[in-house]
Amino acid sequence: MADISETIVPEPSEPPVSSKPSLSSKPPVSSEHPCPICGQKSLQLTEAERDIPFFGKAFLFSMTCPSCKFHKSDIECAEQKEPSRFTFEITSEEDLKVRVVKSAEATVKIPYITDITPGSASQGYVTNIEGILQRVKREIESVRDTAEDDEDRTKAKNLIKKLINIMWGKQKQKIIIEDPTGNSAIISDKAVVERMKAAVK
Ligand SMILES: [Zn+2]
Repeated sequence: MADISETIVPEPSEPPVSSKPSLSSKPPVSSEHPCPICGQKSLQLTEAERDIPFFGKAFLFSMTCPSCKFHKSDIECAEQKEPSRFTFEITSEEDLKVRVVKSAEATVKIPYITDITPGSASQGYVTNIEGILQRVKREIESVRDTAEDDEDRTKAKNLIKKLINIMWGKQKQKIIIEDPTGNSAIISDKAVVERMKAAVK
């Protein structure tokens, strides 16, 4: 499955300075980490720092295993933030460009369509409203294509139609992101922000 552009791409590593062979020069990709899924010592770890306007400095982490295709990414703010709930209403095509920071601990609620819940397969990423809707659309498309039940297929088809209308600005839709770790945000003046209770760990 082709992934959308918001997927965290590792920054190209600095080329080693050839004139100065040094003991501290590192190989471009470290391959000695065992994969938690298949156990192959092929796990690639990346870490990048990014300044996100109106959000602040964030660290993006990712783990990718070429052997078994395991992929996990997450995002963490440099500064500790309050557990928050962001509510945003999509009313126009312009709203699709609104930036979204979603950590792996976040719950994304798209009422009457679906929820994206945290869990072991949950990813953290920086995207926009459109990126969230596209991810949801792809998941519902796979239900449409694989469901055994006629009713489930019809339901999926109707949800896809609805998502397309929302993306064309023809239908309003609310989207809510709750994150007990405070590492998520919908970055818009239109977003309503509320404090939540801290995560119980
Ligand atoms: Zn693996």
